[in-house]
Amino acid sequence: MIEKVILVRPRGFCAGVERAIKIVEDCLQIFGKPVYVKHEIVHNKHVVDSLTKKGAITVNTVEEIPQNATAVFSAHGSPPQDFEKARQKNIRLIDATCPLVSKVHLEVHRYANQGYTILYIGHKGHVEADGVCAELPGKLHLIETIKDIEEIRMNKEEEDDKEKNQNNDNKKGVYLTQTTLSVDETKEIIAALKKRFPNIKEPPSEDICYATTNRQAAIKELAKNVDVIFVIGSKNSSNSRRLAETAQKTGKTAFLIDDVNGIKKEMFKDAKIIGLSAGASVPEYLVQQAVEYFVNLGAKKEELNVLNEVMTFKEPLELIKIKREQKGI
Ligand code: SF4
Repeated sequence: MIEKVILVRPRGFCAGVERAIKIVEDCLQIFGKPVYVKHEIVHNKHVVDSLTKKGAITVNTVEEIPQNATAVFSAHGSPPQDFEKARQKNIRLIDATCPLVSKVHLEVHRYANQGYTILYIGHKGHVEADGVCAELPGKLHLIETIKDIEEIRMNKEEEDDKEKNQNNDNKKGVYLTQTTLSVDETKEIIAALKKRFPNIKEPPSEDICYATTNRQAAIKELAKNVDVIFVIGSKNSSNSRRLAETAQKTGKTAFLIDDVNGIKKEMFKDAKIIGLSAGASVPEYLVQQAVEYFVNLGAKKEELNVLNEVMTFKEPLELIKIKREQKGI
Protein backbone atom coordinates (compact mmCIF):
# COMPACT_ATOMS: atom_id res chain seq x y z
CA MET A 1 0.00 0.00 0.00
CA ILE A 2 1.47 3.35 -1.06
CA GLU A 3 1.62 5.83 1.83
CA LYS A 4 3.37 8.82 0.32
CA VAL A 5 4.55 10.34 -2.94
CA ILE A 6 7.40 12.82 -2.53
CA LEU A 7 8.19 15.38 -5.23
CA VAL A 8 11.69 16.72 -5.11
CA ARG A 9 12.69 20.26 -6.01
CA PRO A 10 14.46 21.34 -8.19
CA ARG A 11 13.03 19.22 -10.99
CA GLY A 12 11.83 19.75 -14.53
CA PHE A 13 12.39 22.77 -16.77
CA CYS A 14 15.69 24.63 -16.54
CA ALA A 15 16.27 28.19 -17.72
CA GLY A 16 17.79 27.05 -21.05
CA VAL A 17 14.81 24.86 -21.90
CA GLU A 18 12.25 27.53 -20.95
CA ARG A 19 14.13 30.01 -23.12
CA ALA A 20 14.33 27.64 -26.12
CA ILE A 21 10.61 26.78 -26.04
CA LYS A 22 9.67 30.46 -25.73
CA ILE A 23 11.87 31.29 -28.72
CA VAL A 24 9.93 28.85 -30.93
CA GLU A 25 6.58 30.13 -29.59
CA ASP A 26 7.63 33.75 -30.16
CA CYS A 27 8.80 32.95 -33.70
CA LEU A 28 5.46 31.27 -34.48
CA GLN A 29 3.65 34.33 -33.18
CA ILE A 30 5.85 36.90 -34.94
CA PHE A 31 6.52 35.17 -38.27
CA GLY A 32 3.59 32.74 -38.49
CA LYS A 33 3.64 29.06 -39.50
CA PRO A 34 5.77 27.18 -40.28
CA VAL A 35 8.84 27.68 -38.15
CA TYR A 36 11.52 25.07 -38.82
CA VAL A 37 13.38 23.73 -35.81
CA LYS A 38 16.70 22.06 -36.44
CA HIS A 39 16.88 19.08 -34.11
CA GLU A 40 14.25 18.55 -31.38
CA ILE A 41 14.15 21.94 -29.67
CA VAL A 42 14.69 20.11 -26.37
CA HIS A 43 14.80 16.36 -25.86
CA ASN A 44 11.23 15.81 -24.83
CA LYS A 45 8.60 14.17 -26.99
CA HIS A 46 5.69 16.01 -25.32
CA VAL A 47 7.29 19.42 -25.81
CA VAL A 48 8.11 18.66 -29.46
CA ASP A 49 4.59 17.33 -30.16
CA SER A 50 2.98 20.39 -28.61
CA LEU A 51 5.11 22.78 -30.71
CA THR A 52 4.39 20.70 -33.83
CA LYS A 53 0.67 21.22 -33.23
CA LYS A 54 1.28 24.97 -33.11
CA GLY A 55 3.13 24.96 -36.47
CA ALA A 56 6.76 24.05 -35.79
CA ILE A 57 8.43 21.56 -38.12
CA THR A 58 11.32 19.64 -36.60
CA VAL A 59 14.07 18.64 -39.05
CA ASN A 60 17.47 17.03 -38.58
CA THR A 61 19.55 19.05 -41.02
CA VAL A 62 19.73 22.53 -42.52
CA GLU A 63 19.33 20.88 -45.94
CA GLU A 64 15.70 20.11 -45.03
CA ILE A 65 14.91 23.78 -44.34
CA PRO A 66 13.62 25.67 -47.41
CA GLN A 67 15.37 28.76 -48.75
CA ASN A 68 14.26 32.00 -47.01
CA ALA A 69 12.35 30.11 -44.29
CA THR A 70 12.34 30.98 -40.58
CA ALA A 71 14.29 28.53 -38.46
CA VAL A 72 15.35 27.99 -34.88
CA PHE A 73 18.42 25.97 -33.90
CA SER A 74 17.87 23.78 -30.82
CA ALA A 75 19.05 24.38 -27.24
CA HIS A 76 21.83 21.78 -27.60
CA GLY A 77 23.98 23.94 -29.85
CA SER A 78 24.95 23.44 -33.48
CA PRO A 79 28.11 22.99 -35.54
CA PRO A 80 29.41 26.30 -36.95
CA GLN A 81 28.98 24.84 -40.45
CA ASP A 82 25.19 24.80 -39.94
CA PHE A 83 25.12 28.55 -39.31
CA GLU A 84 27.02 29.08 -42.57
CA LYS A 85 24.62 26.80 -44.49
CA ALA A 86 21.66 28.73 -43.06
CA ARG A 87 23.26 32.01 -44.13
CA GLN A 88 23.78 30.70 -47.67
CA LYS A 89 20.09 29.69 -47.86
CA ASN A 90 19.04 33.12 -46.62
CA ILE A 91 17.25 31.51 -43.69
CA ARG A 92 15.94 33.85 -41.01
CA LEU A 93 17.69 32.14 -38.11
CA ILE A 94 17.08 32.47 -34.39
CA ASP A 95 19.58 30.49 -32.35
CA ALA A 96 18.11 28.86 -29.22
CA THR A 97 21.43 27.36 -28.06
CA CYS A 98 21.50 27.47 -24.27
CA PRO A 99 24.01 30.16 -23.18
CA LEU A 100 25.74 27.52 -21.02
CA VAL A 101 26.38 25.40 -24.12
CA SER A 102 27.54 28.46 -26.09
CA LYS A 103 30.03 29.10 -23.27
CA VAL A 104 31.70 25.73 -23.98
CA HIS A 105 31.83 26.45 -27.76
CA LEU A 106 33.60 29.74 -26.97
CA GLU A 107 35.99 28.05 -24.54
CA VAL A 108 37.07 25.63 -27.30
CA HIS A 109 38.28 28.52 -29.44
CA ARG A 110 39.72 30.55 -26.58
CA TYR A 111 41.94 27.66 -25.45
CA ALA A 112 42.79 26.47 -28.96
CA ASN A 113 43.98 30.00 -29.78
CA GLN A 114 46.20 29.90 -26.71
CA GLY A 115 47.79 26.67 -27.95
CA TYR A 116 45.97 24.23 -25.70
CA THR A 117 44.95 20.75 -26.75
CA ILE A 118 41.27 20.33 -25.89
CA LEU A 119 40.11 17.19 -24.09
CA TYR A 120 36.32 17.18 -24.22
CA ILE A 121 34.40 14.86 -21.90
CA GLY A 122 31.08 14.01 -23.52
CA HIS A 123 28.93 11.41 -25.21
CA LYS A 124 29.83 10.47 -28.76
CA GLY A 125 26.86 11.00 -31.08
CA HIS A 126 24.99 13.32 -28.69
CA VAL A 127 23.96 16.45 -30.55
CA GLU A 128 25.58 18.77 -28.00
CA ALA A 129 28.91 16.93 -28.19
CA ASP A 130 28.73 16.84 -32.00
CA GLY A 131 28.25 20.62 -32.07
CA VAL A 132 31.22 21.27 -29.80
CA CYS A 133 33.52 18.80 -31.59
CA ALA A 134 32.64 20.43 -34.93
CA GLU A 135 34.26 23.66 -33.70
CA LEU A 136 37.69 22.07 -34.23
CA PRO A 137 37.14 19.11 -36.54
CA GLY A 138 39.64 16.32 -35.92
CA LYS A 139 41.62 18.33 -33.37
CA LEU A 140 39.62 17.87 -30.21
CA HIS A 141 39.82 14.67 -28.16
CA LEU A 142 36.43 13.27 -27.18
CA ILE A 143 36.53 11.28 -23.93
CA GLU A 144 33.56 9.15 -22.96
CA THR A 145 35.15 6.82 -20.43
CA ILE A 146 38.33 6.48 -18.38
CA LYS A 147 39.49 3.88 -20.90
CA ASP A 148 39.57 6.56 -23.63
CA ILE A 149 42.24 8.45 -21.67
CA GLU A 150 44.80 5.75 -22.44
CA GLU A 151 44.42 6.42 -26.15
CA ILE A 152 44.97 10.18 -25.99
CA ARG A 153 47.79 11.70 -27.94
CA MET A 154 48.09 15.35 -26.88
CA ASN A 155 48.90 16.57 -30.39
CA LYS A 156 50.33 15.43 -33.68
CA GLU A 157 53.87 15.72 -32.38
CA GLU A 158 53.02 12.78 -30.17
CA GLU A 159 53.67 10.39 -32.99
CA ASP A 160 57.21 11.82 -33.32
CA ASP A 161 57.66 11.73 -29.56
CA LYS A 162 56.53 8.13 -29.51
CA GLU A 163 59.14 7.26 -32.07
CA LYS A 164 61.73 9.05 -29.97
CA ASN A 165 60.38 7.20 -26.96
CA GLN A 166 59.59 10.43 -25.15
CA ASN A 167 56.71 11.09 -22.83
CA ASN A 168 54.53 14.02 -23.83
CA ASP A 169 52.02 13.73 -21.01
CA ASN A 170 52.92 17.18 -19.73
CA LYS A 171 51.97 19.04 -22.91
CA LYS A 172 49.56 21.95 -22.61
CA GLY A 173 46.00 20.65 -22.33
CA VAL A 174 42.65 21.76 -20.98
CA TYR A 175 39.55 19.71 -20.30
CA LEU A 176 36.00 20.85 -21.03
CA THR A 177 32.77 18.89 -20.62
CA GLN A 178 29.28 18.40 -21.97
CA THR A 179 26.73 20.26 -19.82
CA THR A 180 24.49 17.30 -18.97
CA LEU A 181 26.86 14.62 -17.69
CA SER A 182 26.77 12.63 -14.46
CA VAL A 183 28.57 14.79 -11.89
CA ASP A 184 30.03 11.75 -10.09
CA GLU A 185 31.20 9.89 -13.20
CA THR A 186 32.76 13.05 -14.59
CA LYS A 187 34.69 13.56 -11.33
CA GLU A 188 36.18 10.08 -11.81
CA ILE A 189 37.14 10.83 -15.42
CA ILE A 190 38.70 14.16 -14.40
CA ALA A 191 40.69 12.45 -11.63
CA ALA A 192 42.01 9.93 -14.18
CA LEU A 193 42.84 12.75 -16.60
CA LYS A 194 44.76 14.62 -13.90
CA LYS A 195 46.66 11.46 -13.08
CA ARG A 196 47.74 11.02 -16.67
CA PHE A 197 48.22 14.76 -17.37
CA PRO A 198 49.20 16.39 -14.03
CA ASN A 199 49.36 19.87 -15.58
CA ILE A 200 46.00 19.76 -17.30
CA LYS A 201 44.09 23.00 -17.00
CA GLU A 202 40.56 23.13 -15.60
CA PRO A 203 37.84 25.19 -17.28
CA PRO A 204 37.38 28.63 -15.67
CA SER A 205 33.98 27.55 -14.37
CA GLU A 206 32.19 24.21 -14.17
CA ASP A 207 30.85 23.12 -17.59
CA ILE A 208 28.27 20.68 -16.22
CA CYS A 209 25.41 23.11 -15.88
CA TYR A 210 23.67 24.23 -12.71
CA ALA A 211 20.42 22.45 -13.67
CA THR A 212 22.11 19.07 -14.19
CA THR A 213 24.14 19.45 -10.99
CA ASN A 214 21.19 20.58 -8.86
CA ARG A 215 18.80 17.87 -10.07
CA GLN A 216 21.39 15.16 -9.40
CA ALA A 217 22.14 16.55 -5.91
CA ALA A 218 18.42 16.75 -5.16
CA ILE A 219 17.66 13.21 -6.30
CA LYS A 220 20.36 11.85 -3.97
CA GLU A 221 18.53 13.51 -1.07
CA LEU A 222 15.22 12.18 -2.33
CA ALA A 223 16.66 8.66 -2.45
CA LYS A 224 17.31 8.78 1.32
CA ASN A 225 13.60 9.17 1.95
CA VAL A 226 11.84 6.85 -0.52
CA ASP A 227 11.62 3.21 -1.64
CA VAL A 228 11.27 3.65 -5.41
CA ILE A 229 12.00 6.64 -7.66
CA PHE A 230 10.36 7.59 -10.95
CA VAL A 231 12.25 10.06 -13.12
CA ILE A 232 10.13 11.58 -15.85
CA GLY A 233 12.06 12.26 -19.04
CA SER A 234 12.67 11.06 -22.57
CA LYS A 235 15.17 8.29 -23.26
CA ASN A 236 17.10 10.57 -25.65
CA SER A 237 17.48 13.25 -22.97
CA SER A 238 21.02 13.11 -21.60
CA ASN A 239 20.24 14.95 -18.37
CA SER A 240 17.13 12.79 -17.70
CA ARG A 241 19.08 9.58 -18.23
CA ARG A 242 21.91 10.75 -15.98
CA LEU A 243 19.31 11.71 -13.35
CA ALA A 244 17.79 8.22 -13.37
CA GLU A 245 21.28 6.67 -13.24
CA THR A 246 22.23 8.91 -10.29
CA ALA A 247 19.12 7.66 -8.46
CA GLN A 248 19.98 4.03 -9.29
CA LYS A 249 23.53 4.48 -8.03
CA THR A 250 22.20 5.32 -4.57
CA GLY A 251 21.03 1.69 -4.44
CA LYS A 252 17.34 2.53 -4.79
CA THR A 253 15.19 1.20 -7.62
CA ALA A 254 14.64 3.98 -10.15
CA PHE A 255 12.83 4.11 -13.48
CA LEU A 256 13.04 6.59 -16.34
CA ILE A 257 9.57 7.03 -17.83
CA ASP A 258 8.23 9.32 -20.56
CA ASP A 259 5.02 10.05 -18.67
CA VAL A 260 2.42 8.53 -16.35
CA ASN A 261 1.70 5.77 -18.87
CA GLY A 262 5.15 4.35 -18.16
CA ILE A 263 4.21 3.53 -14.55
CA LYS A 264 3.31 -0.14 -14.01
CA LYS A 265 2.09 -1.56 -10.70
CA GLU A 266 4.82 -4.23 -10.58
CA MET A 267 7.43 -1.43 -10.52
CA PHE A 268 6.41 -0.41 -6.99
CA LYS A 269 4.75 -3.52 -5.61
CA ASP A 270 6.65 -3.59 -2.27
CA ALA A 271 7.07 0.18 -1.93
CA LYS A 272 5.45 2.45 0.65
CA ILE A 273 7.06 5.74 -0.36
CA ILE A 274 7.48 6.84 -3.97
CA GLY A 275 9.87 9.59 -5.08
CA LEU A 276 9.35 11.71 -8.18
CA SER A 277 11.68 13.90 -10.18
CA ALA A 278 11.92 15.09 -13.77
CA GLY A 279 14.67 15.94 -16.24
CA ALA A 280 15.40 19.53 -17.28
CA SER A 281 13.34 19.24 -20.48
CA VAL A 282 10.16 17.94 -18.81
CA PRO A 283 7.03 20.07 -18.41
CA GLU A 284 5.52 20.18 -14.92
CA TYR A 285 2.12 18.88 -16.05
CA LEU A 286 3.74 15.46 -16.72
CA VAL A 287 4.96 15.37 -13.11
CA GLN A 288 1.51 16.36 -11.82
CA GLN A 289 -0.13 13.56 -13.83
CA ALA A 290 2.20 11.07 -12.14
CA VAL A 291 1.42 12.60 -8.72
CA GLU A 292 -2.29 12.23 -9.41
CA TYR A 293 -1.76 8.56 -10.29
CA PHE A 294 -0.27 7.85 -6.85
CA VAL A 295 -2.70 10.13 -4.99
CA ASN A 296 -5.55 8.15 -6.59
CA LEU A 297 -3.99 5.03 -5.09
CA GLY A 298 -4.24 6.64 -1.64
CA ALA A 299 -0.80 8.26 -1.36
CA LYS A 300 -0.31 11.51 0.56
CA LYS A 301 1.57 14.15 -1.47
CA GLU A 302 4.70 15.78 -0.03
CA GLU A 303 7.38 18.13 -1.38
CA LEU A 304 11.10 17.90 -0.62
CA ASN A 305 12.75 21.22 -1.37
CA VAL A 306 16.49 20.59 -1.59
CA LEU A 307 17.58 23.72 -3.47
CA ASN A 308 16.06 26.91 -4.84
CA GLU A 309 16.89 27.89 -8.41
CA VAL A 310 16.70 31.48 -9.58
CA MET A 311 18.44 31.26 -12.96
CA THR A 312 16.96 32.98 -16.02
CA PHE A 313 18.51 33.71 -19.43
CA LYS A 314 17.88 36.64 -21.73
CA GLU A 315 16.29 35.95 -25.09
CA PRO A 316 18.62 36.07 -28.13
CA LEU A 317 19.65 39.53 -29.29
CA GLU A 318 18.29 38.94 -32.81
CA LEU A 319 14.82 38.27 -31.35
CA ILE A 320 15.00 41.32 -29.05
CA LYS A 321 15.91 43.40 -32.11
CA ILE A 322 13.00 42.05 -34.18
CA LYS A 323 10.54 42.67 -31.33
CA ARG A 324 11.81 46.25 -30.95
CA GLU A 325 11.49 46.87 -34.67
CA GLN A 326 7.91 45.58 -34.56
CA LYS A 327 7.08 47.97 -31.74
CA GLY A 328 8.85 50.79 -33.60
CA ILE A 329 11.31 51.31 -30.74
S1 SF4 B 1 20.23 21.40 -19.08
FE1 SF4 B 1 21.73 22.99 -18.62
S2 SF4 B 1 22.84 23.32 -20.54
FE2 SF4 B 1 20.96 22.19 -21.04
S3 SF4 B 1 19.48 23.77 -21.56
FE3 SF4 B 1 19.25 23.39 -19.37
S4 SF4 B 1 20.59 24.91 -18.36
FE4 SF4 B 1 21.18 24.79 -20.51
